[in-house]
Amino acid sequence: MQERLRELLENSYAPLSNYKVAAIVKCSDGNTFEGVNIETTSPASGVCAERNALYSAIAQGYKKNDIESIYIMNKGEKPCFPCFICRQALNDLCNPETFIVSFNYKGTNTVSVTVKDLCPFSFGEEDLNVK
Ligand SMILES: [Zn+2]
Repeated sequence: MQERLRELLENSYAPLSNYKVAAIVKCSDGNTFEGVNIETTSPASGVCAERNALYSAIAQGYKKNDIESIYIMNKGEKPCFPCFICRQALNDLCNPETFIVSFNYKGTNTVSVTVKDLCPFSFGEEDLNVK
């Protein structure tokens, strides 16, 4: 997983921040979906690696219960964590117990947290009464 994340980082398009991130969503059937962050000159139209990968899985018909874990890597020395826009997407599209595993570039520092850990006091579908 780490080696593939390092390869994916080369596909990140981050000319504004130069902060490159890659993500891989692993589904319970073993299929994986890959994403990188993509920035544009209109920042709101960019997308983070986590959402890029997660939305690809959803687009292929995978549901909340199919998303097993999400692996993230950046080029730095510290693991990074999903921004708060991504956290809302993770909260809505994954189970609370889905694991987010974040690696630093060398793979020497790894942190695993659940969606529930990342999103305390979250706003979600139960608040809207939608299923
Ligand atoms: Zn994000």
